[in-house]
Amino acid sequence: RGRGSLSVVVRSYGEGRKLILTVDVTERERADSMRRDFVANVSHEIRTPLTVLAGFIETMDSLPLTEVERRRVLSLMQQQTQRMQTLVADLLTLAQLEGSPRPTSDRWVSLDGLLQRIRSDALALSHGRHRVTVVADTLAELAGVEGELLSGIGNLVSNAVRYTPEGGGIDVHWRLLADGSGELCVADTGPGIAREHLPRLTERFYRVDGSRSRESGGTGLGLSIVKHVAQRHGGALLIESEVGKGSRFKLQFPAARVRAATAEPVSAEH
Ligand code: ADP
Repeated sequence: RGRGSLSVVVRSYGEGRKLILTVDVTERERADSMRRDFVANVSHEIRTPLTVLAGFIETMDSLPLTEVERRRVLSLMQQQTQRMQTLVADLLTLAQLEGSPRPTSDRWVSLDGLLQRIRSDALALSHGRHRVTVVADTLAELAGVEGELLSGIGNLVSNAVRYTPEGGGIDVHWRLLADGSGELCVADTGPGIAREHLPRLTERFYRVDGSRSRESGGTGLGLSIVKHVAQRHGGALLIESEVGKGSRFKLQFPAARVRAATAEPVSAEH
């Protein structure tokens, strides 16, 4: 039975002699069951927009629609198509991240460059509905893969924008810690997340509020992607949150992957 073991623990409690069976399944069985859950989740996530699209196609085919109605239906169809495109893009990103444990093409990436991109993405997503601040205490460079880092930080900022109501604040802050490691914190003044959900947030398709996540364009894969990016860069993702106050997502990078940014050497022609 694979490398694991199968054990059955039988316990009896109290007068009623209730029996509880705890089955410790093998590693392989656990992996199989996770894969089945994942396939079921993906199928469900794809089937829902497909069902909606099929309904709209039927409506367009069978009902005479006014021009206004036709435009409305097309725009709803576009939303569902977009939802599937985002899901497939996230699935591909996740498959790539899970395919190899370590990035193979590490480079020194300018944090300043990353933060400028993140800032303009945040402003574009927010449409002026939030206060957005991006602050770096030090000029630094991170050893890693730029695209992965952008995707990791971008997912945190996109969550902050999507879950924080209008008028709220989103703060992105880079700082160096005393031991030379670095921390990028994405903080928001959104609804916060109850403590019992925190350990499961990075599971694929885990959502605190499924309908709010889907309505806001979420795939349920974002934090799973962020966790992989952190781990592949030798770091970790820390989540702190308080209901009614907001959340802080901290991406931590070890000292070996952080260095002070140096000015480009001036090349002089002689
Ligand atoms: P999703 O695509 O649903 O946002 P994620 O993996 O990015 O998926 O996040 C998982 C869940 O964590 C979300 O569905 C949401 O319930 C919760 N969450 C993530 N970020 C925030 C945040 N900044 N504020 C409140 N809840 C959040």
